[in-house]
Amino acid sequence: MMRRKLVAGNWKMHGGLTQNAGLLDAVRDGMASMPDVDCAVCVPFPYLAQAQQKLSGSNVKWGAQDVHQSDKGAFTGEVSAAMLRDFGCSYVIVGHSERRAYYGESSHLVAEKFMAAQKAGLTPILCVGETLEQREGGVTEAIVAEQLDALIQLAGVQALRNAVVAYEPVWAIGTGKTATSAQAQEVHTFIRRRVASHDGQIASGLCILYGGSVKANNAAELFAMPDIDGGLIGGAALVADEFLAICRAGQI
Ligand code: PEP
Repeated sequence: MMRRKLVAGNWKMHGGLTQNAGLLDAVRDGMASMPDVDCAVCVPFPYLAQAQQKLSGSNVKWGAQDVHQSDKGAFTGEVSAAMLRDFGCSYVIVGHSERRAYYGESSHLVAEKFMAAQKAGLTPILCVGETLEQREGGVTEAIVAEQLDALIQLAGVQALRNAVVAYEPVWAIGTGKTATSAQAQEVHTFIRRRVASHDGQIASGLCILYGGSVKANNAAELFAMPDIDGGLIGGAALVADEFLAICRAGQI
């Protein structure tokens, strides 16, 4: 099955109003000539209004990097999915390995965040992936399965109908070490098969991104793999030409 590619940028805690303005303009303008690839930028919360203002009416969507699991309430410092919708977000990343590692987010909590996002009409991007130690210990599949199964148990496989999964090996994030296309394909196949064991149709339509040091010079090879449906891009999403070149590699 030929799935349309999605290239999503994860800006993390970088940038500022001035720097973002140039980046958003360049991505918006560059994407105008790439109608057959989906593109999104996930920006820090304070810049959602800027993303909305710059990207409305373009073919670049925007989103956030985290969301709270509750609809509303006394959760100082947190942001709800409805608030993200207020700023026109289409996507939200949940369970990024940095959130799991630095903020102790469990797979169960990530699944709750996923559900809150979906309930509000957002498309969650569920990040899964193993550490180097786990890969070397031969437990990559067990780790990815636990992260995926937590969602399927809580929300049912139907939750994956309008969702994105991003396979991001922790050892490849921000390290310059990319998984080889074969290594990534192997885990993507595992994810698709695991979803297929519940529902074949949902599995074949599922958008599975690869993330981990994707750059302009390795994107085409990764995107050529049958189960890699695009990329979640960190560092390279902060450089317009590099990000656009990655998007170009996603064109059908
Ligand atoms: C990420 O943070 O999701 C990521 C993939 O980062 P990088 O592309 O910099 O490895």
